[in-house]
Amino acid sequence: MDAYENRVQFLNDREVLDKSYVLYWMQHSQRVEDNHAFEFAITQANILKKPLLVCFGITSTYPDANARHYAFMLEGLHGLATSIREKNVAFIIGLVEPILAIKQLSDNACMVVVDRGYLTIERQWRTIVAEYVPCSMIQIETDIVVPVEVASIKQEYSAATLRRKISPIIDMYAQLPIPQICEIEPSYPRVNFETMDLSDRHRLETIIHKLPIDHSIGKVDGFTGGTQHANALLDVFIESILPNYRTLKGDPSKNMTSKLSPYLHFGHISPIRVYRAVKEHDPYDDSGFLEELVVRRELAINFCYYNSRYDSYEALPNWAKTTLDAHRYDTRPAYYSDKQLIESQTEDPYWNAAQKQLVICGFMHGYMRMYWAKKILEWKESPEQAYSLALQLNNTYGLDGRDPNGYAGVAWCFGLHDRPWKERSVFGNVRYMNDRGLERKFKMADYVEHIHETCT
Ligand SMILES: Cc1cc2nc3c(=O)[nH]c(=O)nc-3n(C[C@H](O)[C@H](O)[C@H](O)COP(=O)(O)OP(=O)(O)OC[C@H]3O[C@@H](n4cnc5c(N)ncnc54)[C@H](O)[C@@H]3O)c2cc1C
Repeated sequence: MDAYENRVQFLNDREVLDKSYVLYWMQHSQRVEDNHAFEFAITQANILKKPLLVCFGITSTYPDANARHYAFMLEGLHGLATSIREKNVAFIIGLVEPILAIKQLSDNACMVVVDRGYLTIERQWRTIVAEYVPCSMIQIETDIVVPVEVASIKQEYSAATLRRKISPIIDMYAQLPIPQICEIEPSYPRVNFETMDLSDRHRLETIIHKLPIDHSIGKVDGFTGGTQHANALLDVFIESILPNYRTLKGDPSKNMTSKLSPYLHFGHISPIRVYRAVKEHDPYDDSGFLEELVVRRELAINFCYYNSRYDSYEALPNWAKTTLDAHRYDTRPAYYSDKQLIESQTEDPYWNAAQKQLVICGFMHGYMRMYWAKKILEWKESPEQAYSLALQLNNTYGLDGRDPNGYAGVAWCFGLHDRPWKERSVFGNVRYMNDRGLERKFKMADYVEHIHETCT
């Protein structure tokens, strides 16, 4: 954080203060509502009596991102462009690496404000830009309930250890007033920057088509990006799903979860808004939903923030690596190639349905995600291969992929945040799941039928 702290000196520098605008580099928090970084930027612009310029740079080289992810993101940016315009704030979106865009625009900025991301690439971008910008750069955390370093100063061992630390303060952080959008003088600084026009929704497809990205994995039907859609989904969840969440959330045949994960991933909705909506509906909510939204989600962020190898097999705890290693030469019940797995060609109808849901619908039911990754471990020649394939499929096809939750979720299936269980073939002491367990608990035929009907 030194690079940021060193910039504080610029706050009082006359020459810097004479520059044209306050610049909000929007990256992770792609929304206007409940966005502390945006609010802070408006407040600073008002104090400094400068216009505010919001910039979003679209890179075509984001790891594992494909047309599916870009379509969802651009739908969100389309709505965002309208919302920002309604606030009389200038918004520029360029097909340009974010670092280059911000470097270019910061030359005329008296302050740069940025939201916070936890993955390596997001942190590298901020570090590089912070070392360059000739003015103060301030990072504001807004996609989490309890700030990551407040929650813990180290990688947590399990959900229980994080829960103990944050439970007493979750409500306090979630209920802190989110500043309301302050008024700002309409002002549009002139900038030499090629900006995209996203006002016409029908042009989005043409824009995506022109991007040099992987187009083989396309847009999905069931989700439309943007804050408006996230809010609508939240309303439906609170009204119709939350009352049954505790009993039915784990049942893949019932489809009773919020499906907010893609929206949380792209910052289209704030977890604080979701938390408050649940609490407003029922102050004594005991559905277990807030445990997922806050403790589990923030445990995943804790993992990625404090473990620089979060995207590799190396990130697993030693006991898990040791036991998987001891069982690496165990005969697998079946061996499937990557192609067979991608194309859902296994002998397991439940796994095939889950994989189909991921590939075609861009989503997978939470309970099936655990089963799905554990089966990959059982069917690949080595645990390392299984780990890397599970991550790759999750990140490539999942609309909510490339998220701390995905890295922690896959790692959990290989022992992270869990404890050793009874030893068995292939898995060693890593927790095991099988199809009989699914059948005992749920009407799996209904799940398979539902996927065949909806994911075509
Ligand atoms: C192998 C595997 C891969 C996963 N990959 C992803 C991924 O790529 N992206 C992703 O967002 N989640 C991932 N998860 C976590 C979880 O399965 C999903 O967040 C959840 O299923 C999303 O559906 P939902 O929004 O309807 O969840 P809900 O049950 O409605 O929960 C609300 C929110 O709480 C959070 N949440 C729920 N369950 C978990 C969990 N176990 N860990 C962390 N946060 C959670 C999510 O932000 C979710 O949107 C993965 C889990 C596993 C086991």
